[in-house]
Amino acid sequence: MNRYKFILNPIAGGGRAKSMMPVIERYFQEAKLEYEIYQTSKQQDAIGAARRAAEEGFNIVVAAGGDGTVNEVLNGIVGSDAALAVIHGGKGNDFALSVNMPKDTEAACRALEKAAIKKIDLGKVLDRHFINSVGVGFDATVASRVNRGIKPLNGVYAYIYAVFETLLTYRPIEMEIELGDGRKFTQKPMLVAVGIGCSYGGGMMILPNAIQDDGLLDICVLDQMNNLALAYHFPKVFSGKHVKLKEAALYRSEEITLRLSEKCPLHMEGEILISDQMHFTIEKQAMPVVFGGL
Ligand SMILES: [Mg+2]
Repeated sequence: MNRYKFILNPIAGGGRAKSMMPVIERYFQEAKLEYEIYQTSKQQDAIGAARRAAEEGFNIVVAAGGDGTVNEVLNGIVGSDAALAVIHGGKGNDFALSVNMPKDTEAACRALEKAAIKKIDLGKVLDRHFINSVGVGFDATVASRVNRGIKPLNGVYAYIYAVFETLLTYRPIEMEIELGDGRKFTQKPMLVAVGIGCSYGGGMMILPNAIQDDGLLDICVLDQMNNLALAYHFPKVFSGKHVKLKEAALYRSEEITLRLSEKCPLHMEGEILISDQMHFTIEKQAMPVVFGGL
């Protein structure tokens, strides 16, 4: 019988995750399922809580929050036998969408009870695992701006505001890009996205063809364009049509290394890491994940 541990971030989604608690409790009590809920109290708290849950024998650890909570939970349970699950509760819910988890909390509880599990790939960079998509460059700068907060804007509107604000000041950084097959090139791209899943930033389909369990990282290198062109083309990212631009190059590789001329932010599922050398690797089908439908 499954044992569920919810790692709930009460401030995710402006309190949305916390408001799901009574629904989760009612469903799991009525269904007579074994569960516990842990509420996080600070950043990084979910990593330790998820690790303890796996050690205590909870075989399904549910991130109740946004992509940031998912990333912490997966970094806590990686290497254990516990499966990762998610219930929509944040501003960015790209991972929840990628595993077909219903938005409605009660429907999500039903999916958790069914527990359809499939193993998918895990990415790693800067000693940290990711399960969806990360970005370096323009998009990471936008994300770090959104993370600092743009009141009173939320979600996609905050993102669009940050895009235009970043456009005014962004300066592409020179980087050497080396793929797993030895191909190497130096350029000053607008952004480099690397991922297991298709989207980030709340529904931007940056890697529309990504396959979650093929053992390969999908990579998008978007070359420089002028601000006007970028402002015009940027919305195409939401549908994945940007891949048709002549400035967009797509690759698949088991690894990729970026050597940057200076330290630069990397946006990883709600968190910003800073470095001038980033080596991305993949662990094939390393994480069992609960899908909302297979
Ligand atoms: Mg893949």
